[in-house]
Amino acid sequence: MLTSAPRGTKDILPGQSRHWQMIEGTIRQICREYGYEEIRSPIFEHSEVFHRGVGETTDIVQKETYDFQDRGGRDLTLRPEGTAPTVRALLEHKLYAGPLPVKVYYIGPMFRFGRPQAGRLRQFHQFGIEVFGSASPRVDAEVIAMAMDFYQRLGLKNLQLLLNSIGCPKCRPGHRQALQEFLQPRASELCGDCQKRLDRNPMRVLDCKNERCQELSQGAPTTVGYLCDECADHFASVKELLEAAGVEYTLDDRLVRGLDYYNKTAFEIVSTDIGAQSSIGGGGRYDNLVETLGGPSVPGIGFGLGLERVLLTMENQGLLESDSRELRNIFIAMAGEGTAPVAFGLAQTLRKKGLSVELDYLERSLKAQMKTADRFHAPYVVIVGQGEVERGVITVRTMGTGEQREIPLEEAPEILSGLF
Ligand SMILES: [Zn+2]
Ligand SMILES: [Zn+2]
Repeated sequence: MLTSAPRGTKDILPGQSRHWQMIEGTIRQICREYGYEEIRSPIFEHSEVFHRGVGETTDIVQKETYDFQDRGGRDLTLRPEGTAPTVRALLEHKLYAGPLPVKVYYIGPMFRFGRPQAGRLRQFHQFGIEVFGSASPRVDAEVIAMAMDFYQRLGLKNLQLLLNSIGCPKCRPGHRQALQEFLQPRASELCGDCQKRLDRNPMRVLDCKNERCQELSQGAPTTVGYLCDECADHFASVKELLEAAGVEYTLDDRLVRGLDYYNKTAFEIVSTDIGAQSSIGGGGRYDNLVETLGGPSVPGIGFGLGLERVLLTMENQGLLESDSRELRNIFIAMAGEGTAPVAFGLAQTLRKKGLSVELDYLERSLKAQMKTADRFHAPYVVIVGQGEVERGVITVRTMGTGEQREIPLEEAPEILSGLF
């Protein structure tokens, strides 16, 4: 127990963390370019935030949340997703009363008590963006275009953008009724979950992963077929803008999203490279969420993606460099009486000049130190020998060519930092 992490959690080790940092760097860069600022909400919230915000009827809230009581008897939940906490913060700090739209992003751990499988952990990491205060299709198109831009910057291939509109509270009742009428005669053959969904949320039957349910819902009425004029215009504009931005999409009328608060635009990005066609991100519009959480009527849209799944896809596509050698600009080797202080002092000076410097901490032989230098991939090795120190010089070896030269110790910081 003491030497294994809890089921569904994973250490990110040295050698792996660089991949995370690379992805996080891309996230910060792209968010800067699209004008999104970071929001950092707490890891846990009052349970109510998720029960109301994510919806009581969703799998996440019914089966997957980490709920607990703190020592003060408060009901708290580890955040299973990033949108509801962002809305809670929007309300608490009245961000909606400032300049609109509010454009924010988040990166961080989320928690769901699901069955762990490849690319799905109980503590996993998500990157998401949210835009509040604009009902315009321009925002929908920007959010989707940015998501695709993000994947493309990481070099991901074989992606498909699925797009749908699920209507609004005006047009959804018509679809809901038609769908229930269609499904009712087949109800007894649906899976247990779908039988429950039939009353409360029949739209969810359309995206049930159960094969029999998929067969039974073939030819079911689509949300797109029931859109009101406003939703139809909105959807047409989103498509037009995506085309203008060169973003390819595939219409998918079975894409309905698992969360109760979505309306109009829904989208999902799937990769064909992690097992069966599977989602590596998605999002949509949620114009009624802010009100659901007790705020004013503020439209919103966003997307979220799991970073583990992105990394898994990148790994499968050979996009992560497997070279685990560490990189240092300079390795300082030392040998002999009185050389350690000189080497140590030089290392500090060079680091303050911004160079990455490594030296020997195990008091090994010069030969062993040269091997270590190789492991660090250092293009230059500085050799501090006893005789050299006495003469006030050090030796610089260019590892690529094996060429060596002596330089005055006094001028070493200047000369060495000039090499980079
Ligand atoms: Zn509508
Ligand atoms: Zn089902």
